[in-house]
Parts: sequence; C-alpha cells; structure tokens
Amino acid sequence: MNRITTIISAKGGVGKTTVTANLGLALHQSGRETILVDGDFKNPNLALHLGILEYSYNFQDVLERGGNILEALHIHKTGLRIIPSSLSLKHVEIAIKKFRELFQNIKGHILVDSPPGLGEDVISLMKASDDLIIVTTPEIPAVTDALKSIEIARNMQKKIRGIIVNRHGRKKYEISAEEISAISNLPVLGVIPEDENVLKSVMCKTPVIEFNPYSNASIAIRKIASKITGEKYQKPKFLMLKRLIFRT
Ligand code: ADP
Ligand code: MG
Repeated sequence: MNRITTIISAKGGVGKTTVTANLGLALHQSGRETILVDGDFKNPNLALHLGILEYSYNFQDVLERGGNILEALHIHKTGLRIIPSSLSLKHVEIAIKKFRELFQNIKGHILVDSPPGLGEDVISLMKASDDLIIVTTPEIPAVTDALKSIEIARNMQKKIRGIIVNRHGRKKYEISAEEISAISNLPVLGVIPEDENVLKSVMCKTPVIEFNPYSNASIAIRKIASKITGEKYQKPKFLMLKRLIFRT
C-alpha cells in the first residue's frame, strides 16, 4: 500500500521543491517509509536539492525503455529514496497518465514535487494523488494563486491535508497564517520562516534540516513532519544542550 501526496502551488518559487526535499527527509528520519518523486518534468531540480547530481537512470528512462520504476530509484546518503527526472517534454503526458500505475508496487508515503501553474500536467498529478499539500508564501499574489489550486482540488473532491506557509518574515506586509487558514478554510500545517540557512543549504546541495538541524526553518519543517505523522514533536537533543549552555 502506498499514499501519494503531491506538493502544489500555482505560483512558482514559493518553496515546493524545498519543502518536498526537507519534509521528505524529516519523514524518513522519523522512521516513515518515504519516497520522493520529481514530478516537475519541465524544470526538474529535486535531486539537486539532495545533492544527487549524476544518475544513470531516471523517471524518463523508465518511460522510454519501459522498465520497472524501481530501476529509477536512487538512495540518498541518509537512506531517503528518490526518483529523479530529467527534462524530457515528450514524456510528460504518458508519465502523468500512467502515474498511479507506475507506482502501484511501491510501498510507503510518496511525496511528489509538482510544477507551478494550473496546467494539464499539474491537474493530472492532482488527479493521481491521494491527497495534496499546498505551499504558499504569505503574500497576496501567492495566496490568491493558492486559492485557485484549492478550488480545483475541491472540485475534484481531493483531500487537502493543509497549507504550509513558507518564507514568513521576508516582507514587511504579510497575510497571517490565521488569515490564510480562515480564507481557505483549511488548517495551516506550519509556518516556515525566511531563513538564510535555506539559501546556504541549496548552495551546498544539502537539505536544510541536514545542513543546519537547529535553524529556525529546520525546526519548523520537523514540526510539520510530526504533525503529518501524528507524533509528538521532539526537539533535537543538541539544541537542548546548546540552550542550557548558552541560555538562548
Ligand atoms: P518552487 O519549487 O516552488 O519553485 P523552490 O523550493 O525552488 O520553489 O524555492 C525558491 C527559492 O526560494 C529557492 O532559492 C529557495 O532556496 C528559496 N527558499 C525556499 N524556502 C525558503 C525559506 N524558508 N527561506 C529562505 N529561502 C527559501
Ligand atoms: Mg520547484
């Protein structure tokens, strides 16, 4: 049995790929069987966030040569599994149409990073999913776009787990998480602050929760993971020690 959760946002650059990589790793580290899939065939960069730069086989190769999707599975050094993609527009349609079928023998929680927009590729990925997580930044254009995705998902009767508000504190004028929850009538799963550790971690091609587990963004992401698993959030051990020593 598996569960396919797609991370969506109509607006680009709000943090879907960052959230997918980090939330996936946090779920994996909490002992959940997790597989990441790069569903952004037009701009695939999920593997890059995990520092996986070279791979002999990917999603598109399986589609082209007709193998088992497991052949495209790559194991990150943390043990997290990922199916990378390569830019190949000719396979977008088949990949999306066959999505559920391709993954039927894969067990665990499958997290799919999606492209921005509300094109046919995104709609088909939404259809193939069991549920969705919406990512938005706390600004009016991004929230307005998020509401469009939510409306489409509701028309499809898709379960939406909730909204992740990312890059909080970057702009002077922002919509609060409470307001976003009230307008969308959805729970906010968590608020990830603007954190330069995220930018540094991308430069180092390492997920921020691994790059700096004590950063504010990492803590927020782990809290979201514990909300998803239903387990109590546990502070990283060394953070407690650091707080005791430096009284921060
Ligand atoms: P999307 O997949 O939605 O296009 P990305 O995950 O690629 O968005 O993120 C867009 C940019 O924003 C990247 O440069 C990423 O490093 C940066 N970013 C994402 N989340 C944060 C954050 N919480 N703090 C700072 N920078 C962030
Ligand atoms: Mg992306």
